[in-house]
Amino acid sequence: MKSLIKKLVETVGPSGYELKVREVVRTEVESFADEIRVDAMGNLIVRKGEKKGKGKRIMLSAHMDEIGIMVTHVDKNGFARFTTIGGVHPRTLYGSRVRFLDGTIGVIGGERQDNSGSLYKMEQLFIDVGADSPEDCPVKTGDVAAFERPFEDLGNRLISKAMDDRVCVAILIEALKQMQDNDHEVYFVFSTQEEVGLRGATAAAYSIDPDLGISVDVTLTGDTPRGVTMDVVLGKGPAVKVRDSGMLADPRVIDLMVRTAKAKDIPHQMEILLGGSTDAKAMQISRAGMPAGCVSVPCRYVHSPSEMVDIRDVENAVKLIKAIVSGPIDF
Ligand SMILES: [Zn+2]
Repeated sequence: MKSLIKKLVETVGPSGYELKVREVVRTEVESFADEIRVDAMGNLIVRKGEKKGKGKRIMLSAHMDEIGIMVTHVDKNGFARFTTIGGVHPRTLYGSRVRFLDGTIGVIGGERQDNSGSLYKMEQLFIDVGADSPEDCPVKTGDVAAFERPFEDLGNRLISKAMDDRVCVAILIEALKQMQDNDHEVYFVFSTQEEVGLRGATAAAYSIDPDLGISVDVTLTGDTPRGVTMDVVLGKGPAVKVRDSGMLADPRVIDLMVRTAKAKDIPHQMEILLGGSTDAKAMQISRAGMPAGCVSVPCRYVHSPSEMVDIRDVENAVKLIKAIVSGPIDF
């Protein structure tokens, strides 16, 4: 699974520009799908199975997009000013590198600061792509880029700039490959524009109109020095979302996840996330509403160029998702 994760995280795909990621996913899933389509929002929607008897129509979602930047202006000396795509914090930026869709690499620099200890403000930062003027600058206003950092394998721990949410894209691909036909009709949605407001999943949930919605996304951990107060720990299993700042997970879905994990002996933990949300929020309030929840993968340093996950959590998340969509669902 590590090679699939590496391939996915090293593909450039900031929100709205998920095309290359979608092609990687499509190649992986094509021969396992009963039906495959790309909708107007760019979501890749893969159906497996057909609803029969007491089966449910289930939507699973993992987002293909990653945070990034967009050029707002190139100055007379060829430096590009930029704005963010999604939740990018200035403290992660100075000295970082970005890769544009055409492969152009830039480094993020900052203006002189009068107080050397202070944090940069966004408007003090710029991208240097090695140009001297707008004419020889390979990037222009409106161009987008993602952060550039190689995938690293530390054994159990893996590091990348886009674990959020490509590691979960890999989890859904793996769950699809392993899924046996049953009474459920399962839609594996590789969604777009999550980082800018759950936009892809909103449209996909409307068109699929499922009976149950489950997203798979990363969550924070409380296990680093003076970290956030949170029970989630790296390596202790996928987390069952109870709430985040956008949703209260449906108690029936929480119960289904916990019961399934216990029955299959899959380590798991409970997630209460005080900031941020995920595709499950969009599903829960789609149309007339639906039971929704989320399986979360613990991740340190979320939205930095070095997000860290534990491969055992990833593998256990595959097992949990597979078990949930294989067993009976009685609500
Ligand atoms: Zn995410």
